[in-house]
Amino acid sequence: MIRRTDYGDYDLILTFFSLARGKISLIAKAAKKSTKRFGGILELFSELEVVCSSGRGKGLPVLQEAALKQPFSEIRADITRTAYASYWAELIHGWMQENEKQTELYDLFKRVLGELDGGRTSEAGLSVLFQMRLLNISGHSPNLSHCWRCQNPLTSKDSGRLFFDIARGGVSCRSCAPGASEGIRLSMGTLKQLMWAGSGDLAKASRIRFSPQTINEALTFLEAFVPYHLGKQPRSLKFLRQIRRD
Ligand SMILES: [Zn+2]
Repeated sequence: MIRRTDYGDYDLILTFFSLARGKISLIAKAAKKSTKRFGGILELFSELEVVCSSGRGKGLPVLQEAALKQPFSEIRADITRTAYASYWAELIHGWMQENEKQTELYDLFKRVLGELDGGRTSEAGLSVLFQMRLLNISGHSPNLSHCWRCQNPLTSKDSGRLFFDIARGGVSCRSCAPGASEGIRLSMGTLKQLMWAGSGDLAKASRIRFSPQTINEALTFLEAFVPYHLGKQPRSLKFLRQIRRD
């Protein structure tokens, strides 16, 4: 479940990222008034198996039955974890169309929620992983290996002077932009780790340990670049920054 909103005094409108049909919104009748109606399991970020009837006319499909598969309740019990999960869910909600299957993104989201719930991996590191892979899946991969101006590969010579240009989606090398100070600063080490986080085996990538400097640079970069591509500024990002005290 990626969104849960009140609808009148009795009902809830729930948005799911489903494996079979992508993003789908349902109305859960009387679920707000009585938690007994669905056994109190209609919680944000939980994984559920649901049965719904198709809506009449223009109405939303109506939730008939729900069964809990993964509660991911440790996420909701912790404000930092909730803030990260809300941000990821909002990115998914903003980017996905209704009824469009996205198996790879589904697997990614489920994986990061599981890791977040387990609490063994840093929330910030998971956020780097999630956002890098979301960019790749959505076809907005940043160019982190070559200079966007001259196309030469970036090397350690360029280190310390790399600035990411959000609108261009890439970094300039030292000779193309000797005095550049516009854009988002990224060190060579951060570029490499971002590329690892975005590619290869997901289980392996989720074990990457980032240094505090890398986390700092990577989050500054991704939390500007991802919203730039995926639509409007997510409201949950403001909340996340308050929680983190940025
Ligand atoms: Zn260049």
